[in-house]
Amino acid sequence: MKDKEQIEIVGDNHFSANIETPLRADAFEKSDIEKIKNIQHHFKMIMQEMGLDLTDDSLSGTPFRFAKMYVKELFYGLNPVNKPKLSTFENKYGYKKMLVEHNITIDSTCEHHFLPIVGHAHIGYVPTKKVIGLSKINRLVDYYSHRPQVQERLALQILNDLQNVLETKDVIVVINAKHLCVSSRGIKDKNSFTTTLEYGGCFLSKSTRKEFLNIINQQAL
Ligand SMILES: [Zn+2]
Repeated sequence: MKDKEQIEIVGDNHFSANIETPLRADAFEKSDIEKIKNIQHHFKMIMQEMGLDLTDDSLSGTPFRFAKMYVKELFYGLNPVNKPKLSTFENKYGYKKMLVEHNITIDSTCEHHFLPIVGHAHIGYVPTKKVIGLSKINRLVDYYSHRPQVQERLALQILNDLQNVLETKDVIVVINAKHLCVSSRGIKDKNSFTTTLEYGGCFLSKSTRKEFLNIINQQAL
């Protein structure tokens, strides 16, 4: 186990080493019901350790609510069976210009502190053979957001999937988000946002990137 100072350093700097979410080999051997039961037990222990009286009517149901929220809501995106089906269509109209989806809600959780990351994603692509239903992009963002995350990895996971299904590298993902672990603890900065950009293909060109950023900035005004 890393020493405690090292653990704090990794958390405060939000380091992440891999594009894949680190998962155990046996991650999905247990059913959701079993997981909820076990998490309920462990969270009850945490509450008791903090000195809370679990016989109180207001607190007695909290371990169950917490466990269900973790497995079924906040972290439903860990399980690949919940991944949305990303159906694409042939680009029949031959549309070859940039397509931009703005202000997609980001509701995620920082994996270093288990506190919310909230903000927006802006995604653009230039279709070649395939186009994708716009709501599918929102669903994909929602899916990857509902895991313990690091903002850079979240953007990369979305980018990678879109590049694969659209069969083009010409995709850009910008995420602008507030980290509650920065605003509510540690440095306690209430106003700062973190912006990450991940892109490939034609967006490697500065002018194409600028065109995209102009579109999303106009929208923000
Ligand atoms: Zn954090």
